[in-house]
Amino acid sequence: MNVLTIDGSLGEGGGQVLRTSLALSLVTRTPFVIENVRARRKKPGLQRQHLTAVLAAAEVGAARVEGAELGSQRIVFLPRELRAGDFRFAIGTAGSTTLVLQTVLPALFAAPGPSTVDLTGGTHNPMAPPFDFLQHSFAPVLASMGAPLALEMRQHGFYPAGGGRCRAAVQPAAWAPCELLTRPERPRIRARVVLARLPRQVAEREAAVLRSRLGLSADAIAIDEVAAASPGNVVMLHLQLGQVTEVVTAVGERGLPAEAVAARAAGAAEALLGANVPVGEHLADQLLIPMALAGGGTFRTVRPSQHTTTNAWVIERFLPVAFTMVEDGAACRISVGPRG
Ligand code: AMP
Repeated sequence: MNVLTIDGSLGEGGGQVLRTSLALSLVTRTPFVIENVRARRKKPGLQRQHLTAVLAAAEVGAARVEGAELGSQRIVFLPRELRAGDFRFAIGTAGSTTLVLQTVLPALFAAPGPSTVDLTGGTHNPMAPPFDFLQHSFAPVLASMGAPLALEMRQHGFYPAGGGRCRAAVQPAAWAPCELLTRPERPRIRARVVLARLPRQVAEREAAVLRSRLGLSADAIAIDEVAAASPGNVVMLHLQLGQVTEVVTAVGERGLPAEAVAARAAGAAEALLGANVPVGEHLADQLLIPMALAGGGTFRTVRPSQHTTTNAWVIERFLPVAFTMVEDGAACRISVGPRG
């Protein structure tokens, strides 16, 4: 049996190396061993979110797994078959539901029938795609590439209590390449400020910053007070960049003034708008797997992050594709095609 060995400490050295390996091991039915899992993180090895991702992948792929324990830094994963079905994955902490979903999505797109996935955990985490990003940015691009994904928010979940719930409905994909190269001269911007168990004036102060800094009208800003198990505050900016809607996010933290949260989101939006590209840093690293499965595609984005270069490297280990990244000032054109 041909078992691929992945060094989890290479490049970005975080959870994405593991998640991409699980996703593509399932799709290609390639067994793999990963060593030094999350070696470059403060708490290396499997945390709850990663452990849930491993167990979720094992369920979807009827896989035999070794090392699926908290803190584990070595995992052996042997997938057997892809299953469609109704899945439930509970992280048990505020760990990111969207990252667990992204681990099994490529396999569910390749499974023999439709599936649903119910997830419990965090829905709006720092350092992970917020639910709104998946719904308004990632899923529509996937749909345009022939991969139908419908998402439903049930309950918001924030650090530290979690308890958020969301649901995905996935249909088998007929992959087609994407071409995302241009964006309009003057993109439309809308804002959504989410607030749980915090005074409304937090959101109002954030809205004031967004009005003055980005010139947004009051109508372009929605303030949503939501129920959640612990307090939460997220500022999300939806940028209409032609075929792509980008969702730029800042997550509120204890001790960080509302003005600083809004300024973070505004600053990230200004940087993306200044780069004059349709695809932002995070969508860029997340589009690489769909593009590789489609066997082709191209997009213009900002200079590649370490997540992007590392993800390309992991994908090339599992699939017979090659990425090219051609930088041009603050922008970069990323393409994928067959290798050799
Ligand atoms: P890792 O750090 O290896 O666990 O990977 C984190 C993943 O979350 C990467 O795919 C990032 O692009 C993604 N991510 C982090 N922050 C955001 C954000 N604000 N919006 C969308 N995706 C994000």
